[in-house]
Amino acid sequence: FTDAEFYQRSFDPQEYLREFCSLSNARGQPNTLLTQSLRSLFNMFALDGLSGHTLIDVGCGPTIYQLLSACERFQEIISLDYTDRNRRELEKWLRNEPGAFDWSPVVQYVCELEGDREKWAEKEEKLRKKVKRVLKCDVTKANPTAPVSLPPADCIVSTLCLEAACKDLATLRSALRNISTLVKPGGHLVMVTVLQETFYAFNKQVFSCLYLERSMVEEAVEGAGFDVKLSEVQPYVPGDARTDCRAVMNLVARR
Ligand code: SAH
Repeated sequence: FTDAEFYQRSFDPQEYLREFCSLSNARGQPNTLLTQSLRSLFNMFALDGLSGHTLIDVGCGPTIYQLLSACERFQEIISLDYTDRNRRELEKWLRNEPGAFDWSPVVQYVCELEGDREKWAEKEEKLRKKVKRVLKCDVTKANPTAPVSLPPADCIVSTLCLEAACKDLATLRSALRNISTLVKPGGHLVMVTVLQETFYAFNKQVFSCLYLERSMVEEAVEGAGFDVKLSEVQPYVPGDARTDCRAVMNLVARR
């Protein structure tokens, strides 16, 4: 299993962004994994109660797509990831530094879902202002942000992280318990997870993935003290050489 140290050494944020965060690939085929997730996140962050003061993004990687709908509902955002390069790449975009990834097509897509494609630059500004901290975390640690202790947030979001970070079901269960400490009782967990995936690959590197079924995720989430409020599975059409994933699961739960 590719562990966190492998991510630290081998996960190239710019290559990941190029491969998974463009709306279409080099052959002009649409990136349905991304657009499906954007639509799901738009729907989940429109639910009643999915708002508050602070949102924590767990295992953010170098990406911000998972915050585009969320940033309309929370005042402050804290982004957490294990690797130094991912946090640095994210900070590059937050500070509008040269060489940062161009998220504007993705931001425009979300603005269109929200009814006004023209407000994309405003949304980028809003998001840049709301992300207050970018910190190291390890979801396998009882306090994922140790030595920093964060006050529990109103909501945590985690996309495509736990299945990549957890080598077996026991580790997933304990990671969910660990990250549950980051959210207040009554607060929410929003998750996007791939199902039945054993690997994903980019830049000639293969990353392993914990093979999950919907019921395994639901049971692990419940076992960590959450009530599942929404759980839906969208099939993922096979034929993508980058991954053997067969479905994407969206979940909202309340602690
Ligand atoms: N959330 C992003 C990135 C997913 S890639 C997205 O939706 O695209 C998986 C991420 O999990 C990587 O950024 C990797 O650094 C992070 N990760 C792997 N092991 C981890 C661990 N033990 N603790 C926290 N994050 C971890």
